[in-house]
Amino acid sequence: MAEPFLSVDRLQTHFPIRRGVLRRTVGAVQAVDGVSFAVERGETLGLVGESGCGKTTVGRSLLRLVEPTGGEVTLGGVDVRRVSGGKLRALRRRMQVVFQDPYGSLNPRMTVRGILEEGLIVHRMGSASERVERMQRALERTGMPADALRRYPHEFSGGQRQRIAIARALVLEPEFLVLDEPVSALDVSIQAQVVNLLVDLRRDLGLTFLFISHDLSVVEYLSDRVAVMYLGRFVETASAAKLYREPLHPYTQALFSAVPSVDPERRRNRIILPGDVPSPSKPPSGCRFHPRCPLAESVCRTVDPPEVAIDGHRVHCHVAARELEQAGGDVAAASRQIAGMIAAQTSSARAVPSASV
Ligand code: SF4
Repeated sequence: MAEPFLSVDRLQTHFPIRRGVLRRTVGAVQAVDGVSFAVERGETLGLVGESGCGKTTVGRSLLRLVEPTGGEVTLGGVDVRRVSGGKLRALRRRMQVVFQDPYGSLNPRMTVRGILEEGLIVHRMGSASERVERMQRALERTGMPADALRRYPHEFSGGQRQRIAIARALVLEPEFLVLDEPVSALDVSIQAQVVNLLVDLRRDLGLTFLFISHDLSVVEYLSDRVAVMYLGRFVETASAAKLYREPLHPYTQALFSAVPSVDPERRRNRIILPGDVPSPSKPPSGCRFHPRCPLAESVCRTVDPPEVAIDGHRVHCHVAARELEQAGGDVAAASRQIAGMIAAQTSSARAVPSASV
């Protein structure tokens, strides 16, 4: 079988906690702790989870904007963690990122030309006139006028700035884009335009996306598959259609219970989880979700749940594994059963219309 375009195996990114005059390492923030997934060329993997769950660190680790502390990452056959020098530079051209904040991510002292040309010069792409042509093409693709090159970021609206940020990534002709909350800072009316632009670019240029967002509705619209992250780990991954319709993991059920739906089959009572997300420097034993899980059993406190996979639907949960087995592998039936169990356990269940977590 052909290798996937992006392959991530047990990715780990821990940040040391240092204390005292000698700055001794006294612990580690386990921002990402053993995450594995694959993305096919042209596919969009959505990544969702509460703030601080590690989803941004996953994106940055793939691009080596932060150095992973363990695991393997392969992009198009290149071992991302082991390349250096010119090979790393060449790889970085193929992997670009668009950040959330179009105000902070563009240097206000540089013209749009300076911002777009910087990467072309670093990667030694084209003569001066070829670079101008490339920049004009990238601006055109993102719906910006060519004369934007002469202007400064402050002359543009938030939506236009995000288009410029996307053009800055596109000008290098990448194959893989990490989109880190790319529409979260924009007005709702502008969000749809930028999301549609991303859909067009993916189709026209054959791009592969890792789409990171806390907005579950946008993630569903844009993603082929979605991974749910909790405290540095993936807890469930499936096609967007399956995951939103038949979530198995109690955390996914709680997360999606906040999404309004016109589909009666997808309408759920809102599940309010108790407590806050624990510190990633001291993750709970066993299943990391157990202190907040309405279905936690004694085994959950001590044994890390292994992955169970059915038709590409992957979940880490003891109860989900058992329910799947009892349902003879029928994911829809197991999902309904788990939802019923949570409803029975959750006295605060009530319908709340909200689009995000
Ligand atoms: Fe809840 Fe246990 Fe499943 Fe973890 S393994 S999500 S604690 S039921």
